[in-house]
Amino acid sequence: MKRWWLEMSKGFLLVLSGPSGVGKGTVCEALLKKRKDLVLSISATTRYKRLGEIDGESYFFYTEEDFGRMVENGEFLEHATVHEHKYGTPKKFVMDNVKKGEVVILEIDVQGAMQVKKEFDEAVFVMLLPPNMMELRNRIENRQTESEADINLRMKNALKELDFVTDYDYFVVNETVDKAVSDIDAIIEAEKHRVKRFKYVKEKVLGGKYV
Ligand code: 5GP
Repeated sequence: MKRWWLEMSKGFLLVLSGPSGVGKGTVCEALLKKRKDLVLSISATTRYKRLGEIDGESYFFYTEEDFGRMVENGEFLEHATVHEHKYGTPKKFVMDNVKKGEVVILEIDVQGAMQVKKEFDEAVFVMLLPPNMMELRNRIENRQTESEADINLRMKNALKELDFVTDYDYFVVNETVDKAVSDIDAIIEAEKHRVKRFKYVKEKVLGGKYV
């Protein structure tokens, strides 16, 4: 059966934020496997490449000069300095996919999220929270990719980020990846059924052959 309500729904941005180490990457990866109607925006960064990260998959890794040039050319939808490195969302990919009706996931920090909020009133904002702060520290330490100083900086920034939860539409606690994924899945499903995302929902129903 033709599912007009899915074909006609407009695409939107799903902004996913949360402190470093909370598990945004793992949750996103599982979510993308579960739902085929999602695309992930790959950010640009000036941060060093961690072991195992691939340019163009994890991030687009740029020099300060190239990143600066992209800022000047207006190529970013939003950009911010996080943990002393620059990060930005390339605009064209996101806009092209939203036009096609896709749900585009932006895994970005709170500063970037607030920039998106000003420009896109149809975006959905989800904050991923740790079960508690001790657990967050354990998770960052266990991944063994940051120095002690970097871990301390990320913990300090985590408290600042969590302060922004009231600016978000939803919060999800990452107690287990499965539960977090099913919570975000439910949020996306509900958001896809918002009447405001359809141009002709009334005409479609009233003008159908059942009237
Ligand atoms: P990490 O260095 O651990 O990969 O990411 C550090 C922080 O940068 C995370 O909070 C992540 O969400 C954020 N981040 C990643 N990409 C972007 C982006 O394109 N824009 C903004 N504003 N933040 C980003």
